[in-house]
Amino acid sequence: MIKDNLDHVYQVINTACDHAGRCREDVSLIAVSKTKPVSMLMEAYDHGCRAFGENKVQELVDKYEAMPKDIKWHMIGHLQRNKVKYIVDKAALIHSVDSLKLADEISREAVKKQVEVSVLIEVNIAGEDTKFGVAAKDTEQLVRDAASLPGIRIEGLMTIAPLCMNPEENRQYFAKLKQLSVDINQKNIDNVNMNVLSMGMTGDYMVAIEEGATYVRVGTGIFGERQYPVK
Ligand SMILES: *Cc1c(COP(=O)(O)O)cnc(C)c1O
Repeated sequence: MIKDNLDHVYQVINTACDHAGRCREDVSLIAVSKTKPVSMLMEAYDHGCRAFGENKVQELVDKYEAMPKDIKWHMIGHLQRNKVKYIVDKAALIHSVDSLKLADEISREAVKKQVEVSVLIEVNIAGEDTKFGVAAKDTEQLVRDAASLPGIRIEGLMTIAPLCMNPEENRQYFAKLKQLSVDINQKNIDNVNMNVLSMGMTGDYMVAIEEGATYVRVGTGIFGERQYPVK
């Protein structure tokens, strides 16, 4: 099942790249495996997946320990400062930096562990009350401030678009994030590049790719619906 789902997702990515006249190599898939057992992740691994996304620190660390070392782990969830120390040397990319305080903590731990940590700035592009992320208008300032910290490298922007019935509704937000990254890139800020645009999930990744996504984060489309334990 996972194999078939992955084949389908790869096909959609190919089609979207064709539509948009983009190179297939410029778009990477992150298999979002939160809540799913290692056995399912290994199925995806055996079918070629080497990038997985998790939104909880403990789960990322557990799976990191249990799985092959050629996997790149992406931290895509809201990150608490007191947990930064557990993942700075395990996450290939932290997608969810949305405050200078968090960037500062990542920098501190990076220096301590003598690693360089790649991060994205999470932008609340639709201005939703319920979402984490820095406001679009404050993004450049956060990029500037975070870029001056040691041990941290800013690689681009990430957003979680609104839940929608029709993916076309999110096209405007993907286009806005792309434009924001272009604008910031033109400022030529030291220690900053805007090569990465992490946007698009199961419901809308085709549209996100057409608007410039370089990473799409697909969970349900690969692993099926998530079941959360009743609290
Ligand atoms: C869960 C999650 C995804 C994947 O969502 P699906 O709709 O299952 O593809 C992508 N990005 C983030 C930040 C997530 O938390």
